[in-house]
Amino acid sequence: MGHIRGLKCRECGREYPIEPIYVCEFCFGPLEVAYDYNSIAKALNKKKIEKREKSLWRYRELLPIAGEPQVGLTSGYTPLVKADNLAKELGVEELYLKDDTVVHPTLSFKDRVVSVALTKAKEFGFDTVACASTGNLAHSVSAHGARAGLKRFIFIPASLEPSKIIASLVYEPNLVAVDGNYDDVNRLCSEIANKYSWAFVNINIRPFYAEGSKTLGFEIIEQLGWKAPDNVVVPCASGSLLTKVWKSFKEFKEIGIIKELGTKVFAAQATGCSPIVTAIKQGTDVIRPVKPNTIAKSLAIGNPADGFYASQVVRETGGDGEDVSDQEIIDAIKLLARTEGIFAETAGGVTLASAKKLIAAGKIRRDEVTVICITGNGLKTQEALQGHVASPHYIKPNIASFEEVLKKIS
Ligand SMILES: *Cc1c(COP(=O)(O)O)cnc(C)c1O
Repeated sequence: MGHIRGLKCRECGREYPIEPIYVCEFCFGPLEVAYDYNSIAKALNKKKIEKREKSLWRYRELLPIAGEPQVGLTSGYTPLVKADNLAKELGVEELYLKDDTVVHPTLSFKDRVVSVALTKAKEFGFDTVACASTGNLAHSVSAHGARAGLKRFIFIPASLEPSKIIASLVYEPNLVAVDGNYDDVNRLCSEIANKYSWAFVNINIRPFYAEGSKTLGFEIIEQLGWKAPDNVVVPCASGSLLTKVWKSFKEFKEIGIIKELGTKVFAAQATGCSPIVTAIKQGTDVIRPVKPNTIAKSLAIGNPADGFYASQVVRETGGDGEDVSDQEIIDAIKLLARTEGIFAETAGGVTLASAKKLIAAGKIRRDEVTVICITGNGLKTQEALQGHVASPHYIKPNIASFEEVLKKIS
């Protein structure tokens, strides 16, 4: 077991052995992986991390696996881009983009969580993996499960973008499109998970799966030169990523890798599905479920499992939350492409547009170091830009026709 103590209830603190379980039997609180930080502090340091391969497994002592990594060996260690053009446009001094649109095999941050979840599923001896997904998780489980030789059942809302459905089907999983929204799919999956002994990555394997998100935070600190940023803006679906980015920062402090930690954590959501940001703005911990209606389908979770904890992290760190309209999402996707040459999916538009509003409102200070998390690639949600980009210049295959166009442009 090495550095892992076991599972621990976030509410009552009761401890459990490492098993594919996710709720406390006594208080129904969610279970989380607990580590022995004293032993990790002795085993891990900056030099050791720096010598390792550039993948998310370079932080393996802080991930809940017992043996060698088995899945997602090339996932992680995505670029931290210093975004000077965008910084100028937004009027801030030092701005970075954590660019999870590239490097990962299925081009979203979900390859982090799935690499850990499927390694753990193999350790537990499962031969079948499953998930409820808003799109990106479906791609990632389909792809990594294919390579790992696992049977796959993938459940999605039938209303997902056609391109997102094709990008799952190509890996030949058992893809089940449910007539309902994500929250309906998730409810159904909880029932199925009780009946079949499969590794549902975001249900019975969730405590292990969620830990994979920490690697995004570890990388931010390492890539900033072993420093935590002043501000980090994180998109929220279930809210898990946001809580784990904060957990990763705290862990690096706990084991002595960083000395100072004063980061403010900011939550970003689409106005058409903003239960977490609404709670933050109203100053309450009570998350009111909503019916999603937004083009940011990968973030469209109306009843977010970690919403309560995400809003607590935002409050505890002195951050804030912001939500943005579909038009603001599209404008931000185009802004990012135009200034930094990065094509983000709708979730990336949500994060950038929210950050822009937070800066304009003075909630993110212009003289501080800010990191914006861009979590998925724009090639996955091209439909969102239909009718919102210019047309090509259509010409005949001769130079005269081209020069007519050239005259108009210049
Ligand atoms: C899943 C997802 C997130 C965040 O998910 P959480 O459930 O909040 O952890 C962010 N961006 C993209 C692109 C995603 O697919």
